[in-house]
Amino acid sequence: MVPYNTPMRKKKVLFETLGCRYNRFESAEMAYELCKAGYETATSASGRVDVVVINTCAVTAKSAARARAAIRNAKQTHPEARVVVTGCYSETSPGDVARVDGVDMVVGNAEKFDIGDVLSGSGDETNIFVGADMPGDLAVRPVTSMEGRTNAYLNVQSGCDEKCSFCVVRLARGRSRSADAASVAEQVRRMSDAGIKEVVLTGINIGQYGSRGASTLSGLIRRLVDTTDIARIRLSSINPNDVTDELIDLIATEPRVCRHLHIPLQSGSDLILQRMRRPYTARYYEETLDKLAALVPGIGLGADVMVGFPGETEEEFRRTYDLLDRSPLMMLHVFAYSPRPGADSSHMADVPARPVAKQRSAALKELSALKGERMRGRFVGKTLDVLVESSYDRNGRLKGFADNYIPVLLDGPDRLMNTIVPVRMIQESVGRLYGEAEEKRSEVSLCP
Ligand code: SF4
Repeated sequence: MVPYNTPMRKKKVLFETLGCRYNRFESAEMAYELCKAGYETATSASGRVDVVVINTCAVTAKSAARARAAIRNAKQTHPEARVVVTGCYSETSPGDVARVDGVDMVVGNAEKFDIGDVLSGSGDETNIFVGADMPGDLAVRPVTSMEGRTNAYLNVQSGCDEKCSFCVVRLARGRSRSADAASVAEQVRRMSDAGIKEVVLTGINIGQYGSRGASTLSGLIRRLVDTTDIARIRLSSINPNDVTDELIDLIATEPRVCRHLHIPLQSGSDLILQRMRRPYTARYYEETLDKLAALVPGIGLGADVMVGFPGETEEEFRRTYDLLDRSPLMMLHVFAYSPRPGADSSHMADVPARPVAKQRSAALKELSALKGERMRGRFVGKTLDVLVESSYDRNGRLKGFADNYIPVLLDGPDRLMNTIVPVRMIQESVGRLYGEAEEKRSEVSLCP
């Protein structure tokens, strides 16, 4: 006999997130909304699942192919589950997504946070929920679970007012809008109270942040420094034209603002930058990096670079390579151009042949490895503050990131987890530094 008070089984939702950090953050926000609507998130792909949400990306042709493969895989693994596809691929090509076998619903970027209502209000047939206007303000949503986490992403801006010719993200995300500064500060205080040590401020084009109470990104960071106890504030990617003197000064003078910026370059040729409609010149980019390196010693700098853009000659690629080679960058994300339907550049002629783009990409990846190794080597024998994560690497060592985003492995007791410790660097190897917590050395020297 079934007891009267047998609880109803909660519906389970599984998230598959493709693409950028921003998508990862938005999946967490959707999970939060679905939990409020009575769902629970599945932590593994095995077992019964009622809904699979695939949060897609549309940056390259490969991203779309990956999304289609994820949809097919979700339907095969969970034939009874409803497959909901959202994200930039859904927003830019809803018809294409709906035609992929196994899709039950297509949800746009403006609708994705109403996912609870969307799911409860629809039948079994394919439904497309795309095309609503983006809201004028950006809501700040708490991250789903902060337990056991050392850092958390906080989405403070969405959309973009630039018009880069290769980009469909701006079409998928609408005009720039920002989260209210007071709500951001309140959320950061909650994160800090929950034990989070580092907040990573994210956005589609975070340099365009501007809201009541903090009209610039620097104003927002200043407010977080002054009104919260968060130990570290890190920024996600920011365009070079948005790296202001005020921001550089904050990074240089506020130890809680991480000495780390990821600044997309895309090309070192002014001709290509113009065709890309990027709002800066190669010289401006270089001067910005040089200023940062001079005013913020030890800063970790990264860049996105695109090779094989229409019209990129060998000479133009050489300009990119040389600029990167003499720069203080330590890490490059290299992308090979692929035309995206809807992007203005998709009509441009003279796309370099695939093998040429591949070769250029390989050369830059090699350069990136070399520059990273050199940068890390400079810190051997020196001490860096490391935020130790709450899990081990596969060899049972503690791991973490220095404030300048160098990955570090160290030996030390478990109690160092989720703390920021000074670590003396001993050796550089395979993309990271190995070090010893200074706390550990002083313990040894105090022993009788
Ligand atoms: S800055 Fe350019 S590449 Fe970045 S989101 Fe805006 S339009 Fe796209």
